[in-house]
Amino acid sequence: MSISKKNRRVAWEPSHSSPGAGVEGTTASVQAERDLLISILETLSQSRHMNEYLERLVRQVKKYSGCCCVGIRLLDDDGNIPYVSYTGFSREFYEIENSLCIKSDKCMCVNVIMGNTQSGLPSYTKGGSFLSNGTTKLLASVSEELKGQTRNVCNQYGYESVALVPMKHKGKILGLIHLADKSENKIPLERVQFLERVGVYIGEALHKFMAEEALEESEKHYRDLYEEAPNAYFSVGADGYIKRANRSATELLGYSLDELIGRPVLDLYADTPTGKAKAQGVFQRFLAGEEIRDEELEMCRADGNKVWISLSVRSVRNKNGQVVTSRSVVVDITERKKLDQLKDEFIGLVSHELRSPLTVITGAVNTALTEAERLSPEETHQLLKDAALEAESLSHLLGNLLELSRMQANRLFLHAEPISVKKVIQSTVEEVKRQSSAHQFVVNLPRKLPPLYADELRLERILYNLLENAVKYSPQGGEIRVFVKPEEEYLVIGVSDQGSGISPADQAKLFRPFQRLEESRPDGVGGAGLGLLVCRRLVEAHGGRIWVESEPGRGSTFFFTMPLSHG
Ligand code: ADP
Repeated sequence: MSISKKNRRVAWEPSHSSPGAGVEGTTASVQAERDLLISILETLSQSRHMNEYLERLVRQVKKYSGCCCVGIRLLDDDGNIPYVSYTGFSREFYEIENSLCIKSDKCMCVNVIMGNTQSGLPSYTKGGSFLSNGTTKLLASVSEELKGQTRNVCNQYGYESVALVPMKHKGKILGLIHLADKSENKIPLERVQFLERVGVYIGEALHKFMAEEALEESEKHYRDLYEEAPNAYFSVGADGYIKRANRSATELLGYSLDELIGRPVLDLYADTPTGKAKAQGVFQRFLAGEEIRDEELEMCRADGNKVWISLSVRSVRNKNGQVVTSRSVVVDITERKKLDQLKDEFIGLVSHELRSPLTVITGAVNTALTEAERLSPEETHQLLKDAALEAESLSHLLGNLLELSRMQANRLFLHAEPISVKKVIQSTVEEVKRQSSAHQFVVNLPRKLPPLYADELRLERILYNLLENAVKYSPQGGEIRVFVKPEEEYLVIGVSDQGSGISPADQAKLFRPFQRLEESRPDGVGGAGLGLLVCRRLVEAHGGRIWVESEPGRGSTFFFTMPLSHG
């Protein structure tokens, strides 16, 4: 409600001027003020939380003022001024008033909260409060136009006596005390003025509570960050015992928090040179105050399994500069370590796979050269044929390596076009046949085959890798079958053999990088563990899928799909 000077008329009659007021009345009011102050101080010392404090405050102000309704409104960051505590107001009135916002609403509460009380109207006190002891009379005194600009909710709900007293901290208004009563002349000016003075202390208390709440919230925020961080955190004392740990630490090591706290940290390392032995050195460096970064160590989980970790430690010192505890960040690098190990093994395998054919080629060519006179033309031909075949298989291996490096660098580009799958299958089978005459090759193709939309060289590579495996992993004389089944949008191409087959557990690993099963097989055959990985990536690059069906002892069939050409 905003009221111009011209229209001012306030229903205000000080209560002490009413009959019965006088020395006795004044003594009673001094006593009431004293009582209020004492109880407010007591309340402050007894309340642990702001809400508890405000609940009590509302009851005390109600007792002091004698008004049937008292509420405390606080201004929030969005400009809302909800009641954080109230008594006596009807539910309906509360619902309407509680949604008040200083950004969108106009009313006396908003004026008081915003400090817009400098109009000189008698309805505003010098201390910045609003006071009316007869809201109906007040409204009758203002023009319809001005009345329309106010919400008049207090009046609509029959509250004749209304006071809105600001609560401040260092001049900033934090909220207000709302007094209301249905009778007229319930609130003497002196009471409002006294509440204004008390409002400063209340504001001080509110500020303290708010600061404590903000601190608690920020502590909780950091505690949550610590607790829910994806990395494991430990705090270890200079005595070597764990003082704190977060949830990720318990998950990483498989111990409960209770089992971790108070445990010697060195107990958690594996009994290996890269475990306990190395951790001891790291611990000494921490005691000497050195900052430790990314040390790779081996820890031991509760279930006995080892985990590789990367450890970074910062020392925390006391006032005398002594190292008292550490803040350690532990990152699980087990997967990376496994991959590193696989890569190392892979380099070893590839070097071996490259060297063997090269040895054959060099040997054959050298013999053909140095023994030329002694060798028959057939023998020389055979030597050169052997060298040519080994050179071909070498070229396939290098081709796979090159594809893999393209894939790793995200530089695998397909040259897809409509191609005849029959032609590609036949030429690839012929090529593999030349390498291994000891197997029976059977090609089953439907009479009519639609063209594929694929990269011809890549399709050749997929087929070659699968056929080469079928040759490598099935006995001599066995049948190797290539077949094709057209589906609506794609072709299914299959390569089956009569080899030893693959167990379901091994099937799951087959298409992963550098996976070989041969180490665990009694008659393990050489290879780099590259062929199926390259097949999978090439098939997927075409939008297809590759899988295996196999039973140990009953051969294997590898299937893959390729998109049909609709051009
Ligand atoms: P490589 O043959 O060079 O070892 P691959 O990626 O082509 O690498 O194959 C991975 C592993 O899968 C092989 O080491 C082999 O143990 C197994 N494997 C592949 N094809 C067959 C097959 N047709 N029958 C049985 N095992 C196979």
